Formats: sequence, C-alpha cells, structure tokens
Amino acid sequence: MDCLFCKLVQGDIPATILYQDDDVIAFEDIAPQAPTHFLVIPKRHISTLNDVSDDDAALLGKLPIVAARVAKEKGIAEDGFRVTMNCNEMGGQTVYHIHMHVLGGRAMTWPPG
Ligand code: AMP
Ligand code: ZN
Repeated sequence: MDCLFCKLVQGDIPATILYQDDDVIAFEDIAPQAPTHFLVIPKRHISTLNDVSDDDAALLGKLPIVAARVAKEKGIAEDGFRVTMNCNEMGGQTVYHIHMHVLGGRAMTWPPG
C-alpha cells in the first residue's frame, strides 16, 4: 500500500521514534506546529476516523494512553497539551493513515482554525 505512515512503520522512511510497541508508534512531527509536536498512530493501516469500527476499540484506546505517556516524558503534561485528530479534507487531514497529533509547550487557542 502506498501510505507514508505505513512506510514509516516499516522503517522505509526515517522518523524520530519516541515510543513503540506491537500496536502503536509515536514519533516527532516533521513540521512541528508547537515546541512539542508528535504523532501517535496505530501500526495497522486505518485511513480515517470514518473507517473505524468497534473492532478497533482496544487498538485506538491505546492512542491517548501513549499520547499522555510521551507527553509526560517530554515534560508538557503538567502545563497541558492539545490532542487532535483531523478527518478528511475539511478536517485538515493530509496523511490518510489515522493519527493523533499531540501539541504542547505553548498556550493553545480555542477554537482551532
Ligand atoms: P494531518 O494534516 O492531520 O493529516 O497531519 C499530517 C501530519 O503528518 C502533519 O503534521 C505533517 O507535518 C506530518 N508528517 C508528514 N510527513 C511526515 C513524516 N515523514 N514524518 C513525520 N511527520 C510527518
Ligand atoms: Zn498506512
């Protein structure tokens, strides 16, 4: 499958990996939008949030757990951070392998743009 993040999971494109286990990988975003900006993804390909099912509950439940763990390791947990998942064009999705953005190290604004 011609998917950027599947290639990253397979080690075919480089990444700064912050955490991984059998199911999930966290890595630095290549174009950070905050002092801390990393992504947490399932290793298994799922294109968008529109494609998830009940069978994915355990897998996707790991994403916020890993997000919080890495946020703590990065020292942004106490001050606070933003978690975002963009879905399809109007949601701002550009890579069609589901991912959780974790942004911190600066104050976030609400609502997002
Ligand atoms: P989205 O626009 O929500 O689909 O987010 C895709 C994110 O992937 C963007 O923040 C990009 O900067 C990031 N990104 C794209 N290519 C890479 C890469 N090779 N390594 C790490 N992050 C990437
Ligand atoms: Zn993929």
